[in-house]
Amino acid sequence: MQNRIYIKDLKDYVGKEIIIAGWVDIRRDQGKMVFFDMRDMSGKVQCVSLPNHAEATEKAKEIRPEWVLKIIGLVNKRPEKNINPNVLNGDVELEVTNIEVLNKAETPAIDLSTNGYEIGEEHRLEKRYLDLRRERMQKNIRNRHKVAKLIRDYLNKEGFTEIETPILSRSTAEGARDFIVPSRLDQGKFYALPQAPQQYKQLLMASGMEKYFQMAKCMRDEDLRGDRQPEFTQLDMEMSFVDREDVMALNEALLIEIVKKLYPDKEIQEIPFPRISYKEAMEKHGSDRPDLRKDKENKNLLAFCWVIDFPFFEKADDKNNPQAEGEWTFTHNPFSATKSEFHDDLLNKKNIPNILTNQYDIILNGFELGGGSIRNHEPEALLAVYEIMGVKKEEVEKNLFYMLEAFRSGTPPHGGIAWGFDRLMMLLENEPNIREVIAFPKNGEGKDLTMKSPSEIGVKQLKELGIKLGK
Ligand code: ASP
Repeated sequence: MQNRIYIKDLKDYVGKEIIIAGWVDIRRDQGKMVFFDMRDMSGKVQCVSLPNHAEATEKAKEIRPEWVLKIIGLVNKRPEKNINPNVLNGDVELEVTNIEVLNKAETPAIDLSTNGYEIGEEHRLEKRYLDLRRERMQKNIRNRHKVAKLIRDYLNKEGFTEIETPILSRSTAEGARDFIVPSRLDQGKFYALPQAPQQYKQLLMASGMEKYFQMAKCMRDEDLRGDRQPEFTQLDMEMSFVDREDVMALNEALLIEIVKKLYPDKEIQEIPFPRISYKEAMEKHGSDRPDLRKDKENKNLLAFCWVIDFPFFEKADDKNNPQAEGEWTFTHNPFSATKSEFHDDLLNKKNIPNILTNQYDIILNGFELGGGSIRNHEPEALLAVYEIMGVKKEEVEKNLFYMLEAFRSGTPPHGGIAWGFDRLMMLLENEPNIREVIAFPKNGEGKDLTMKSPSEIGVKQLKELGIKLGK
């Protein structure tokens, strides 16, 4: 729209006639005059329609909340006694000279004037496009962008390249159940949606990219719990020729930068972030993601810590796990390397319960924010990990041939980490769950209530895919 002024900039146009466009926020009819607030992506302003502009005032009497208007008006300084220095445009108001209705709106199905916590979440998710109009959700989604932007700028300065990896990928045993996509062109075969870009990012290290990152969508078909989503976003990164200290130092500095630049009201409890071994965390705090906050009432206190020295293997006990119950399985990532002193134990497959990985988890206020490790870049070590888990060498050669071949063709030592980006945003925004910082999250049953998915598909589509549904 030509010559449109954003509401936040109105203070620069006092005494001038300008155009704004946006939504009617609230409206107060006062007989001959109509007061209403207009809202755009940048803020709100009070508009007043006076009897001397009869046509505009007639229209102003008709308008309702959430109607979309283009308004021509005069920016006036408010009388001294009406100035509110604490809000945007608290010292100006817009005297309306013309109203053009761009779109009418039915009465909103949910109240948008509050923070929304009091509204049933199902209603909010069904009408998410409305729900996102509320001030709190606008703030969350825009701040999410700001954090992502800071991360991108920071890593760019550090020499990283952002690289997209495929969404249509291959089913591999990575810890959780895969989401599967049937192939039409190759009937009976399936893609899997990535649980993480783990293998691609390691292949990128084989490619000589050296410093990779990505804001990556990850899909895991797990039973949903509290703050889990079937698809979520990771800040994923991988670096070549690094050791544990390099990865931890870079990530620590990046987290501190995010807080200092974008959340200056928050206080980081301890810098450098304390480090705790898995053993100590379990013994002292009964958890491998201890909440170290000295004052749990303080909403702005951030207690980061690193947990290190995890056991590499544990006995499988979880239904989500590809390994049978009672067999050895990896605790975090089959691609991790051991701490160097356990390298021979791994190759010789002995002392298994005591082998420690060089994995590092970053914890914030009792939440696991992320985790990563320095990887095995030698084929023998990767094969040994799988052998300990009862997977035969031939099977690994068959299933992970591309990893092994890459490792046999000059892959540098490398390591990385991934953060749960939604979880970070939830904590920074003091939200109770990650759905509050995701534009279109699934509900607790994995359903998208806005578009109503998953949904049935037609017989023709099924036939093309060669799929027959059981009862
Ligand atoms: N891919 C791992 C995960 O999703 C993170 C990492 O080790 O980089 O947990």
